[in-house]
Amino acid sequence: MQRDTFDPRRVLKQVGLPYPVTAETLVDHFSVALDRTIQLDVITGLSRAGWCGLWVLGDDNIDYLFIDAGYARIPALKAQVAAHELGHIVAGHDQSATSEGNVIALLQQTFPHLPPTVIARAAAARSTYDTPEEKEAEAFATAVMSMAAAEARRSSGATGRRAEGVLGHPLGGGRG
Ligand SMILES: [Zn+2]
Repeated sequence: MQRDTFDPRRVLKQVGLPYPVTAETLVDHFSVALDRTIQLDVITGLSRAGWCGLWVLGDDNIDYLFIDAGYARIPALKAQVAAHELGHIVAGHDQSATSEGNVIALLQQTFPHLPPTVIARAAAARSTYDTPEEKEAEAFATAVMSMAAAEARRSSGATGRRAEGVLGHPLGGGRG
Protein backbone atom coordinates (compact mmCIF):
# COMPACT_ATOMS: atom_id res chain seq x y z
CA MET A 1 0.00 0.00 0.00
CA GLN A 2 2.93 2.31 0.55
CA ARG A 3 4.04 1.55 -2.98
CA ASP A 4 1.89 4.30 -4.45
CA THR A 5 1.98 6.87 -1.70
CA PHE A 6 5.53 7.12 -0.35
CA ASP A 7 6.58 10.73 -0.74
CA PRO A 8 10.09 11.35 0.63
CA ARG A 9 9.78 15.12 0.74
CA ARG A 10 6.48 14.98 2.62
CA VAL A 11 8.04 12.62 5.18
CA LEU A 12 11.06 14.88 5.57
CA LYS A 13 8.89 17.94 6.07
CA GLN A 14 7.13 16.10 8.87
CA VAL A 15 10.13 14.69 10.73
CA GLY A 16 12.79 17.20 9.66
CA LEU A 17 16.47 16.61 9.17
CA PRO A 18 19.42 16.90 11.54
CA TYR A 19 21.99 19.59 10.95
CA PRO A 20 24.59 18.98 9.79
CA VAL A 21 23.55 15.91 7.87
CA THR A 22 26.00 13.05 8.32
CA ALA A 23 25.50 9.29 8.40
CA GLU A 24 25.69 9.40 12.19
CA THR A 25 23.30 12.33 12.71
CA LEU A 26 20.83 10.78 10.25
CA VAL A 27 20.86 7.48 12.12
CA ASP A 28 20.38 9.24 15.47
CA HIS A 29 17.62 11.44 14.09
CA PHE A 30 15.60 8.64 12.55
CA SER A 31 16.17 6.30 15.51
CA VAL A 32 14.30 8.86 17.60
CA ALA A 33 11.77 9.83 14.93
CA LEU A 34 10.82 6.20 14.21
CA ASP A 35 11.37 4.95 17.77
CA ARG A 36 13.63 2.17 16.52
CA THR A 37 17.07 0.93 17.48
CA ILE A 38 19.27 1.51 14.45
CA GLN A 39 22.91 0.48 14.52
CA LEU A 40 25.39 1.77 11.97
CA ASP A 41 28.44 -0.30 11.10
CA VAL A 42 31.15 -0.05 8.47
CA ILE A 43 32.30 -3.27 6.83
CA THR A 44 34.68 -4.05 4.03
CA GLY A 45 33.83 -6.07 0.95
CA LEU A 46 30.33 -4.84 0.16
CA SER A 47 31.47 -2.77 -2.78
CA ARG A 48 33.17 -5.75 -4.40
CA ALA A 49 29.66 -7.07 -5.05
CA GLY A 50 28.53 -3.64 -6.23
CA TRP A 51 26.82 -2.67 -2.99
CA CYS A 52 27.46 0.52 -1.09
CA GLY A 53 25.21 -0.34 1.83
CA LEU A 54 22.86 -2.94 3.24
CA TRP A 55 19.98 -3.06 5.71
CA VAL A 56 19.53 -6.17 7.84
CA LEU A 57 16.65 -6.32 10.31
CA GLY A 58 17.95 -8.59 13.05
CA ASP A 59 15.98 -11.15 14.99
CA ASP A 60 16.58 -8.81 17.94
CA ASN A 61 14.45 -6.24 16.07
CA ILE A 62 17.47 -3.96 15.68
CA ASP A 63 17.95 -2.37 12.27
CA TYR A 64 21.55 -2.97 11.26
CA LEU A 65 22.82 -0.58 8.61
CA PHE A 66 26.05 -1.53 6.94
CA ILE A 67 28.12 0.82 4.83
CA ASP A 68 31.02 -0.27 2.68
CA ALA A 69 34.33 0.91 4.09
CA GLY A 70 35.33 2.58 0.84
CA TYR A 71 32.14 4.66 0.74
CA ALA A 72 32.38 5.37 4.45
CA ARG A 73 35.69 7.17 3.95
CA ILE A 74 33.91 9.98 2.09
CA PRO A 75 31.47 11.73 4.45
CA ALA A 76 28.98 12.82 1.76
CA LEU A 77 28.86 9.31 0.28
CA LYS A 78 28.54 7.77 3.72
CA ALA A 79 25.58 10.06 4.44
CA GLN A 80 23.99 9.25 1.07
CA VAL A 81 24.28 5.50 1.67
CA ALA A 82 22.92 5.81 5.20
CA ALA A 83 20.00 7.86 3.83
CA HIS A 84 19.22 5.14 1.28
CA GLU A 85 19.16 2.39 3.90
CA LEU A 86 17.12 4.58 6.26
CA GLY A 87 14.76 5.16 3.34
CA HIS A 88 13.85 1.47 3.39
CA ILE A 89 12.92 1.77 7.07
CA VAL A 90 11.13 5.11 6.75
CA ALA A 91 9.10 3.84 3.80
CA GLY A 92 8.03 0.86 5.89
CA HIS A 93 9.51 -1.67 3.54
CA ASP A 94 9.26 -5.32 4.35
CA GLN A 95 12.86 -6.42 4.20
CA SER A 96 11.92 -9.48 2.20
CA ALA A 97 10.79 -7.14 -0.57
CA THR A 98 14.14 -5.38 -0.93
CA SER A 99 16.49 -6.68 -3.56
CA GLU A 100 18.72 -8.38 -1.02
CA GLY A 101 15.82 -9.53 1.16
CA ASN A 102 15.44 -13.06 -0.15
CA VAL A 103 19.05 -13.90 0.60
CA ILE A 104 18.87 -12.35 4.04
CA ALA A 105 15.64 -14.16 4.91
CA LEU A 106 17.02 -17.49 3.76
CA LEU A 107 20.20 -17.06 5.80
CA GLN A 108 18.32 -15.96 8.92
CA GLN A 109 15.99 -18.92 8.62
CA THR A 110 18.71 -21.47 7.96
CA PHE A 111 21.32 -20.11 10.37
CA PRO A 112 19.43 -18.27 13.11
CA HIS A 113 22.57 -17.43 15.04
CA LEU A 114 24.59 -15.91 12.23
CA PRO A 115 25.75 -12.42 13.24
CA PRO A 116 24.31 -9.62 11.10
CA THR A 117 27.76 -8.84 9.72
CA VAL A 118 28.03 -12.32 8.26
CA ILE A 119 24.55 -12.07 6.79
CA ALA A 120 25.46 -8.71 5.30
CA ARG A 121 28.50 -10.13 3.56
CA ALA A 122 26.61 -13.14 2.29
CA ALA A 123 23.70 -11.07 1.04
CA ALA A 124 26.12 -8.78 -0.76
CA ALA A 125 27.49 -11.68 -2.72
CA ARG A 126 24.36 -12.07 -4.83
CA SER A 127 21.70 -9.51 -5.46
CA THR A 128 19.82 -7.57 -8.06
CA TYR A 129 18.78 -3.96 -7.87
CA ASP A 130 15.54 -3.43 -9.66
CA THR A 131 12.61 -3.31 -7.28
CA PRO A 132 10.17 -0.49 -6.48
CA GLU A 133 11.54 -0.58 -2.93
CA GLU A 134 15.06 0.18 -4.14
CA LYS A 135 13.80 3.07 -6.21
CA GLU A 136 11.90 4.48 -3.23
CA ALA A 137 14.91 4.21 -0.96
CA GLU A 138 17.05 5.95 -3.55
CA ALA A 139 14.44 8.69 -3.99
CA PHE A 140 14.50 9.19 -0.22
CA ALA A 141 18.30 9.44 -0.20
CA THR A 142 18.22 11.95 -3.04
CA ALA A 143 15.65 14.07 -1.19
CA VAL A 144 17.68 13.96 2.03
CA MET A 145 20.87 15.04 0.32
CA SER A 146 19.30 17.80 -1.76
CA MET A 147 17.47 19.23 1.26
CA ALA A 148 20.70 19.03 3.27
CA ALA A 149 22.55 20.90 0.54
CA ALA A 150 19.85 23.57 0.43
CA GLU A 151 20.00 23.96 4.22
CA ALA A 152 23.78 24.25 4.09
CA ARG A 153 23.51 26.98 1.46
CA ARG A 154 20.98 28.86 3.59
CA SER A 155 22.91 28.71 6.82
CA SER A 156 26.32 29.77 5.62
CA GLY A 157 27.72 30.95 2.34
CA ALA A 158 31.15 29.40 2.80
CA THR A 159 29.91 26.19 4.39
CA GLY A 160 27.18 25.95 1.80
CA ARG A 161 29.53 26.24 -1.12
CA ARG A 162 31.77 23.61 0.39
CA ALA A 163 28.88 21.22 1.03
CA GLU A 164 27.53 21.82 -2.42
CA GLY A 165 30.89 20.93 -3.90
CA VAL A 166 31.04 17.71 -1.95
CA LEU A 167 27.44 16.76 -2.60
CA GLY A 168 27.77 17.59 -6.28
CA HIS A 169 30.37 14.87 -6.62
CA PRO A 170 29.08 12.02 -8.77
CA LEU A 171 27.77 9.34 -6.46
CA GLY A 172 28.55 6.44 -8.75
CA GLY A 173 26.49 3.39 -9.52
CA GLY A 174 26.68 1.62 -6.20
CA ARG A 175 23.70 -0.29 -4.93
CA GLY A 176 22.19 -0.90 -1.57
ZN1 LIG B 1 18.41 -0.62 -0.96
